Amino acid sequence: MNRYFYDLHLHSCLSPCGDNDMTPFNLVNLAALNELDVIALTDHNSAKNCPAAAKAAKACGIGFVPGMELCTAEDIHVVCLFAALDGAMEFDEWVHGKLPPIANDPTKLGEQRIMDEGDGITGYENTLLITGADISITEVLPLARRFGGTAFPAHIDRPAYSILSALGEIPPECAFVCAEATARADIASLKRAHPTLAAMPLLLSSDAHYLEDIHPRRAWLELEEPTPACLVAALDSGAVLFGRG
Ligand SMILES: [Zn+2]
Ligand SMILES: [Zn+2]
Repeated sequence: MNRYFYDLHLHSCLSPCGDNDMTPFNLVNLAALNELDVIALTDHNSAKNCPAAAKAAKACGIGFVPGMELCTAEDIHVVCLFAALDGAMEFDEWVHGKLPPIANDPTKLGEQRIMDEGDGITGYENTLLITGADISITEVLPLARRFGGTAFPAHIDRPAYSILSALGEIPPECAFVCAEATARADIASLKRAHPTLAAMPLLLSSDAHYLEDIHPRRAWLELEEPTPACLVAALDSGAVLFGRG
């Protein structure tokens, strides 16, 4: 087992709120420059830039995990990560069918660009991605597992779009075994206030929407290898060793 530095929550220009400079090529290469070992691309309700990011990551030698930040029917954000690109893309199709049919207005929230690995635009996602999918919070983990993935609640200490802000706790029926907190989170008081968090690995990712948000080495996980299969298996077990610094 080795320590690998990670950032498992990054947005590309496919997210309407993601900067257009956040192309798969740019974000992967900046993460590699920052000496991260493994990263995940987690656009809102879509994995359609993961194929490009996977190719860019392969070219620069950084571990890449295909993923998505799912927004549930309760407006709770959940990071979903997959052991393989195929599973992520099948999950993407499933989720797309559960999105309300609202068109994205690029003049209001921004374009939703689908890219290739060389910074070329190959298309646009027309359905607005930052809405709540018709998937409840209790359905997410079994659903992600069905597609060869795992899932954990995102930025739990945020006052909006988080499981704690929406529900006040992590309901046991969600069966989450890890969670993500923001860099500013007071972990000790979070754990005191929410005993369900006591035994959970608390991940720390950037939730970057701009290139400058991608941070250097900040938090690590112990993995056999920095591959999506190893990472998903480790997080799904909840028994992964983790730390900061
Ligand atoms: Zn979020
Ligand atoms: Zn996010």
